[in-house]
Amino acid sequence: MHISSRFRALAAGAALLAAGAIAQAQTTQQQPALPNVMILATGGTIAGAGASALNSATYAAAKVGVEKLIAGLPELSKVANVKGEQVFQVASESMTNEHLLALAKRVSQLARQPDVDGIVITHGTDTVEETAYFLTLTVHTDKPIVMVASMRPGTALSADGALNLYDAVAVAGSKDARSKGVLLTMNDTIQSGRDVSKNVNIVPSAFSSQWGPLGMVVEGKNYWFRAPVKRHTMNSEFDIEQITALPPVEIVYSYAGVSATALDAVAKSGVKAIIHGGPGNGSVADRIVPRLQAAREAARS
Ligand code: GLU
Repeated sequence: MHISSRFRALAAGAALLAAGAIAQAQTTQQQPALPNVMILATGGTIAGAGASALNSATYAAAKVGVEKLIAGLPELSKVANVKGEQVFQVASESMTNEHLLALAKRVSQLARQPDVDGIVITHGTDTVEETAYFLTLTVHTDKPIVMVASMRPGTALSADGALNLYDAVAVAGSKDARSKGVLLTMNDTIQSGRDVSKNVNIVPSAFSSQWGPLGMVVEGKNYWFRAPVKRHTMNSEFDIEQITALPPVEIVYSYAGVSATALDAVAKSGVKAIIHGGPGNGSVADRIVPRLQAAREAARS
């Protein structure tokens, strides 16, 4: 390149850089305020701790408090103003109906606050899908409610909780996550609380839905693939504000060779309803049909 044209090119480059700096300064000034996200902590592996970095499957769940979780992830302050609240500290296999009611009522209360833009709930993986479904049916809000969990405790090599939590806060603070029902962020995916399940007991990719994820979250940005059209949250017939207790209901599972032992025991226990978990399209074994009918008659009389 000739020396003067090279100089012109450098000068043009410098001018572009200066213009870029001004544009960046203006962008910084015009940045909208960060959303306010509340993290409700309930326990689980995401709050778990193991004896060594190699303990990815043997550890104690529900040990680390929410303030420590937040303090360990300073990146959260880049995507939201975050506050934490320790609602419970349990391993999720021990969740009860009382826990569900208390959590749903707190979520509903927070969702009505104008200074809360989104809610994140940390949870154990074992029953996170049940809590997500319950909130999907009972909390009337269009604000993002994002469940999050982890398959490895924070003390383990390749712990997945920190990124899952960062993703959950980013999703909960985003306007495009509104009106999509309760969500779950795990392993870079955004799943629908209506249909997600834990399908593997041990890997970070344990959660999936037969309909696929709603989207992905990568570096704090959402990429949506589909949206739920089934009734949820705002349009649900259930409303946590009207529910003070859940009736006793038991599930009796069926399988090839099932006997009536469990069904008969449950039928005598005074429950208000029995759910028969049948195979296929909910089919019922010929020998179980009359026992279910008898149980219904007994409940009516
Ligand atoms: N069983 C514990 C729970 O569900 C740990 C499992 C987990 O969180 O991955 O809280």
